[in-house]
Amino acid sequence: MSRSLRRQCAKLVKDLDLPSPFDLEQFCRNLGELRGRPLTLMEIDLPSALPCGMVAALDDRDIIFITAGLTGPHRDVVGLHEIGHLIAGHLTDPLAHPDAGRFVYTHLDPRLVRSINGRSNYSTPEEQQAELIATMLFARINRFTAESQWSIAGGEGGVVDRISRSLGDGTTPGAP
Ligand SMILES: [Zn+2]
Repeated sequence: MSRSLRRQCAKLVKDLDLPSPFDLEQFCRNLGELRGRPLTLMEIDLPSALPCGMVAALDDRDIIFITAGLTGPHRDVVGLHEIGHLIAGHLTDPLAHPDAGRFVYTHLDPRLVRSINGRSNYSTPEEQQAELIATMLFARINRFTAESQWSIAGGEGGVVDRISRSLGDGTTPGAP
């Protein structure tokens, strides 16, 4: 991961205010106001072959799609990744993920959708950047919540542990 990419991402997230305690819906609303374009979150049943999150730019607003049924930190991380695409300005390729495009076009009027980005190929610079932004934002949420009691629903612990380890701060949320 290049240092300039890191710097670029740090700059993008530096001035963002995160709701505390963190709430993904609230963060989307705040971000929408900040950007002057409403940002809404929609939960849909994404086919398992598709990424667990997507973001689409419509004429008048942006929409983040999240696989229904995700909860807690896992859901936050998926949402933050898509927010990463949005604030990094990746929504320029109208069909970054052809399958995702077809799927969303069945839910939205294609004439309204300007571009779409699905979580598909992690090796592209766009994916790395979105993931890095998500990681940086999540680290800040982590810092907020470390001080309060953070209970983790069954099954989420592994995700949180993995993220905490990759952040390298050695803390395990929920530990006494
Ligand atoms: Zn992605």
